[in-house]
Amino acid sequence: MAIRDILVIPDKRLRLKSEPIKTIDKSVRDLVDDMFETMYAAPGIGLAAIQIGIPQRVVTMDLAKKDEPAEKRVFINPEITWVSDEKSSYDEGCLSIPEFYEEVERPKKVKVKYLDLEGQEHEIEADGLLATCLQHEIDHTNGVLFIDHISKLKRDMIVKKFKKAAKRGEPIKPAAADDVPEHHLG
Ligand SMILES: [Zn+2]
Repeated sequence: MAIRDILVIPDKRLRLKSEPIKTIDKSVRDLVDDMFETMYAAPGIGLAAIQIGIPQRVVTMDLAKKDEPAEKRVFINPEITWVSDEKSSYDEGCLSIPEFYEEVERPKKVKVKYLDLEGQEHEIEADGLLATCLQHEIDHTNGVLFIDHISKLKRDMIVKKFKKAAKRGEPIKPAAADDVPEHHLG
């Protein structure tokens, strides 16, 4: 197991559309182990494989609160099959866009089809934080970032800030683990 580097915008790989997993073998299980280790270290509550530079449709998640036992969730080839008309807003953050939070409106409930690590197919109906996080991470597998859901003005401003930082060679780093708010997604 290893903690991998998390890609930060404007890294172009974050815009890649990830490939579906065909066979769940040891390499996929190793990838999932590394993703959990990287996600917990960040810390974040969700991570898509492309965020560590692997363009495969794999998502890890743990929505347990700090004082609760870990609850690891793995979604292989996750796919949204239904969204509610009802919307909800959430103050989202992203490990690939550190230090930036913005309210994003998305469908309140979704149905998601996916495989578990044993290759078993599931379909769940998600609400609340799980629904938001699933949509955020599935967006990553399609090369979409949460800033694509906010106004162009705000998006351009944030992208410019990250481009400048990258040019200076001083990439923007996430805050220390202690002051990471609950809304830090993945
Ligand atoms: Zn993210």
